[in-house]
Amino acid sequence: MPTSPSTSRSDPIGDQLRTAESLCAQRGRRLTPIRRKVLELLLQHGRSLKAYELLDAMRAVHPGAAPPTVYRALDFLMDEGLIHRLDAVNAWTACHDAAGAPHDLLVVCTGCGAVAEVSDPAMSRQLAERVSRTGFALATHETEIRALCPQCQQQSPETGHRHHGHAH
Ligand SMILES: [Zn+2]
Ligand SMILES: [Zn+2]
Repeated sequence: MPTSPSTSRSDPIGDQLRTAESLCAQRGRRLTPIRRKVLELLLQHGRSLKAYELLDAMRAVHPGAAPPTVYRALDFLMDEGLIHRLDAVNAWTACHDAAGAPHDLLVVCTGCGAVAEVSDPAMSRQLAERVSRTGFALATHETEIRALCPQCQQQSPETGHRHHGHAH
């Protein structure tokens, strides 16, 4: 069977949900409808969502959705590596490569919550080694880097890139 890289005719979110389902099935875990919905909302959004934003989005589909239900779903999705918790912006984001290599670096835009996922195992090992020399042990294999995405760099006056500095 020829492998066609152009299966993008179908929707990418549907593809990622199917990947998530098969990953859970392989591990004997169940992607229940509520867990699936939370993941779908995060995938649809494209950037990270804070708890209240997620709850609002959830209530638009399931009016009775209670916070503990959503939090439990988030815990599950995190355990399965399907989403990432971002302490830098106090939000969650869907993992866009759940079936791929684990992510070492999450570059998080503190302006808008956009996320770039980076895999660099060698750098992670080095970081863990440096940390262990202090006697500490890394609590997570993911490291968050606070940054500004290209869009926010243009909008932010703090970066010093002012485009309208000239007077006529
Ligand atoms: Zn990821
Ligand atoms: Zn941004």
